[in-house]
Amino acid sequence: MTAARQAVDLLVQTSSGWHFDGARHGLTDREWMALRLLARANRFSRTPSALAQFVGTSRATASQTVKRLEDKGYLQRKSADQDKRSVILDVTPRGEKILASDPIAPLIHAIATLEVGANNFRDLLSQILRQLDARQNRHHADSCRQCIFLTEAAYNRASRKQTEYTCRFFRADLTGAEVDLLCFNFEGRGSGAVPT
Ligand code: SF4
Repeated sequence: MTAARQAVDLLVQTSSGWHFDGARHGLTDREWMALRLLARANRFSRTPSALAQFVGTSRATASQTVKRLEDKGYLQRKSADQDKRSVILDVTPRGEKILASDPIAPLIHAIATLEVGANNFRDLLSQILRQLDARQNRHHADSCRQCIFLTEAAYNRASRKQTEYTCRFFRADLTGAEVDLLCFNFEGRGSGAVPT
């Protein structure tokens, strides 16, 4: 267990990349977390409740964070296509621009250049999260490729077209770009490697 303990000691220290006091480029760590998530989440997960779940706050606190990001021009809200009462949060071009200064960029670079490979590192983290989910009865967000609800190359009878991917949970077509985004309704397929 010594190596595992040492790994956790090191992992905790990497969190200084996303947990910090004060502001960086005018945003607190929680605002960065929210903006980052909303830039990476699919259309089903860009909601205030998914945001609260991801950042680990109440809906009210998440709403205040959203309001501040809206006031700064980094986010805009729009009604969901299917349910006009539901809100989808979109990152604006101004928000995309500030994300180029994201404080976690050095961490992403460090992972991208790992000798073991970023894919292997990602798969190991995914395994760890699955174990934690099972033990703590919780649910983590992940991308579609390893989700039990993803079907590839389905023929959509309603639209009479061949789609790249279909989500059986939301009964919706997905583009190739969408399957790499984060989803809070992700349901893992097991312990296999994530295809790229
Ligand atoms: S396939 Fe899974 S991860 Fe992808 S949108 Fe559907 S529920 Fe979410």
